Amino acid sequence: MPTEPLLTAEDLHLSFGSTPALDSASVEVHAGEILALMGPSGSGKSTLLHCLAGILTPDSGRVTYAGRDLTALHDNERSALRRSEFGFVFQFGQLVPELTCLENVALPLRLGGASRRAALRSAEAWLERLEVSDVADKRPGQASGGQGQRVAVARALVTRPKVVFADEPTGALDSLNGERVMELFVAAARDTGAAVVLVTHEPRVAAYSDHEAVVRDGRVRAREYVR
Ligand code: ADP
Ligand code: MG
Repeated sequence: MPTEPLLTAEDLHLSFGSTPALDSASVEVHAGEILALMGPSGSGKSTLLHCLAGILTPDSGRVTYAGRDLTALHDNERSALRRSEFGFVFQFGQLVPELTCLENVALPLRLGGASRRAALRSAEAWLERLEVSDVADKRPGQASGGQGQRVAVARALVTRPKVVFADEPTGALDSLNGERVMELFVAAARDTGAAVVLVTHEPRVAAYSDHEAVVRDGRVRAREYVR
């Protein structure tokens, strides 16, 4: 029997001033699946991702997560949900500059109530998995762009989130590290049943997804099965 989608956007509209960013965008993703949002620059991919994650509220339309209307929640309920169930790899301002890379990865676990010791231990394992243990004690500013991006991926996955949102998560990576990151997303989907929504320009990255959606002029123009 087909299951309900975990996350659904229905008929989203959102304008920034007079600039329409989303114009009737609809998309859905199931638990255990990877959805790749593709399309030209400025077409609304990041805006759609931020609406799905409850970071931006659309002017109209509805985002439903696990049967709950995200757009109807209070800000504090939405923040609590984001912290406990979502993981993020975003393009800007994602790591706390005053903390070490290791502390950055441990932070979401600490916020979720884990002991300092347990949080640091898990954070260490994730840095190892992404082969960035050498920057554990450095601040993000001292790491390269590619290392910082992998630390951000570790931070997004460390809590074993129900949904991972990633905006160009391999943009700063060479092809080998890009593949490693995608394999970790695939493992999150297959092993813990996470839904992964990612924005990418790269066909070889999108090739890891179960579904591709093409965003054009603020709409999802095509949805095709990759596998
Ligand atoms: P993409 O991620 O596909 O490149 P975006 O979702 O970032 O596209 O942007 C969609 C449209 O909305 C673009 O025209 C962009 O200039 C505009 N836009 C996005 N974010 C903002 C913002 N914070 N303020 C004003 N305009 C924005
Ligand atoms: Mg973007």
